[in-house]
Amino acid sequence: MPASIALFTRDLRLRDNPVLTTAVREATEVVPLFVLDDDILRRTRHAPNRLRFLMAALTELDAELRDRGGRLILRRGRTVDVVAQVAAEVDASAVHVAEEVSRFGQGRENALWERLTQSGYKVRTHTASITAVDPADVKPDTGRGHYAVFTPYFKRWLETPMRRPLPAPDRLVVPKIASDPIPEPSDLCAEPGSPQLQVGGEVTGRNLLADWLSGPVLDYAEHKDTLAVEGTSRLSPYLHFGCLSPAEVVYRTDASTSGGHAFVRQVAWRDFHHQVLGDRPEVAKRDYRSESRSWVHEPDGLAAWQAGKTGYPLVDAAMRQLLAEGWMHGRARMIVASFLSKTLKVDWRIGADHFERWLVDADIANNRLNWQWVAGTGTDTRSSRVLNPLRQADRFDPDGVYTRRWLPELADLPGADIHRPWRAEVPGSVYPAPIVEFNGM
Ligand SMILES: Cc1cc2nc3c(=O)[nH]c(=O)nc-3n(C[C@H](O)[C@H](O)[C@H](O)COP(=O)(O)OP(=O)(O)OC[C@H]3O[C@@H](n4cnc5c(N)ncnc54)[C@H](O)[C@@H]3O)c2cc1C
Repeated sequence: MPASIALFTRDLRLRDNPVLTTAVREATEVVPLFVLDDDILRRTRHAPNRLRFLMAALTELDAELRDRGGRLILRRGRTVDVVAQVAAEVDASAVHVAEEVSRFGQGRENALWERLTQSGYKVRTHTASITAVDPADVKPDTGRGHYAVFTPYFKRWLETPMRRPLPAPDRLVVPKIASDPIPEPSDLCAEPGSPQLQVGGEVTGRNLLADWLSGPVLDYAEHKDTLAVEGTSRLSPYLHFGCLSPAEVVYRTDASTSGGHAFVRQVAWRDFHHQVLGDRPEVAKRDYRSESRSWVHEPDGLAAWQAGKTGYPLVDAAMRQLLAEGWMHGRARMIVASFLSKTLKVDWRIGADHFERWLVDADIANNRLNWQWVAGTGTDTRSSRVLNPLRQADRFDPDGVYTRRWLPELADLPGADIHRPWRAEVPGSVYPAPIVEFNGM
């Protein structure tokens, strides 16, 4: 009896998953398939955090499927070859996959269409799986493929209808078919990664979301930039891997509260960047705006920035948080990105590469377009602004609580004194002197 294939990509969940729900509804048997794609493995060889999170998410997905009588089928190879092979093995009625926005994702989708439809299989792509709304539903009236400015985009996005979250399938019947075991992260990447990494998976993500919506979200508007408190959701890796559905996150948030509204607005930024990338995939590498910027070759500055040794405690604290947790507070991301691209004038692509090596939530749309936003080559309408790390520290970490957490060598400096260790004449053997000068030193 023919089976359908639900090809998981960046939608590693059972709940509110249009790909899985449709695949289960349209056939009596379903293959819940994940392909460990050779191309992706090559690119993430040096991204141990994302690999570890992914393996944990796949393990949870398999457990959730088993609870419903199914299991995850995992194969390794080129996605298009593996799907064609599995389709032949089960005489597939259709292959279901989420619509993607990156050049890689779009290329994969096209390759699937070409190869599978030629062999007589149906391929169905599902929108609003990776984003909360379908990018095609939020196009400007001018006929352009995307909004270039967030504010009008957000207005239209708020008016766009979203589906009610789909329940997880009650039961699945998976045909008898071979699966490879889920590898250990160490089998794929020799580097150990960040010691304090979040654990991947739908169940873990849903617990985090439930906690977040049960109270902290109410203070989000007030706390989102305050570095000292855990005032943001930390849901980004779960949204990146699709352990959580962005549409469901929006649906379950009460946007009539100021915190809820501010939170949903950030999720809309995520959709915004996906929409821009979907329309102009080349901006992952090229400047969104073709204004010429000259970049500087600054290997020492870059190395100091990467290691958290620039002599600016707030910048260094943030860069050390990245290494320790594989995650960084959003305000801190803006400060360190401005420091590298605007102050040291190092090409934003080099900063984005470093983030992609360490960030567990690193994704092409959000990472590359946020880097461009800060570097002044992207969609920011005030492209020349430079963030002064001392002013940012006084404003967003006034008592030095965040900075002290990550810089134990300066922990004895009281209150805001931690932001200007040169005034306390801290020796260079304890903490480096600033590598550049700013107003307010
Ligand atoms: C230089 C730079 C690089 C970044 N790289 C990434 C990246 O690779 N992946 C990533 O998911 N986010 C990235 N961001 C955006 C943002 O900093 C993170 O999404 C956020 O800090 C994650 O923490 P959170 O889940 O607690 O966010 P919250 O503040 O709780 O926000 C909720 C969700 O909204 C989305 N979101 C929030 N801010 C943004 C934003 N500015 N742009 C797009 N989506 C947003 C995220 O999905 C986030 O989980 C980057 C920002 C900058 C300045």
